[in-house]
Amino acid sequence: MAVMITDECINCDACAPECPVAAILSNGDEKNPYDDERFYVKPETCVECVGHADAPRCAEACPTEGSIVWDMPFTVDFEEYYSKGNEDGTYKIREHKKKGLMLPSVKEQKFMDEIGMDVREGHANVSDSF
Ligand code: SF4
Ligand code: SF4
Repeated sequence: MAVMITDECINCDACAPECPVAAILSNGDEKNPYDDERFYVKPETCVECVGHADAPRCAEACPTEGSIVWDMPFTVDFEEYYSKGNEDGTYKIREHKKKGLMLPSVKEQKFMDEIGMDVREGHANVSDSF
């Protein structure tokens, strides 16, 4: 990842159309792993808007405090974090026909390296960083 959507989400769909890499799934999408009503960010696709904008566009569009929060970079340093999350249902990592699960060891993603690990581990509100 990336960023993560919490259960504060009110399903307004303001974020998904703003994502430059189509990383956000609605609550009705079969690839969304959450069993509540919230939207979902695909960590293997989110680039934290690096190369597209100065701040995550989804968070800028979101009207709900605490709905879009920081998560860990989608890099090999966090391979186990995402692998375990995929097993326990926190994430639903895409399965490629030939490459298998698209974990960081298969393809890392860009991330905003100015965001500290303490902020990410604390799943701080993205909007508070800008
Ligand atoms: S941070 Fe950017 S790339 Fe990631 S889900 Fe939000 S809009 Fe998409
Ligand atoms: S903009 Fe915020 S509240 Fe609306 S669907 Fe996206 S995450 Fe949920």
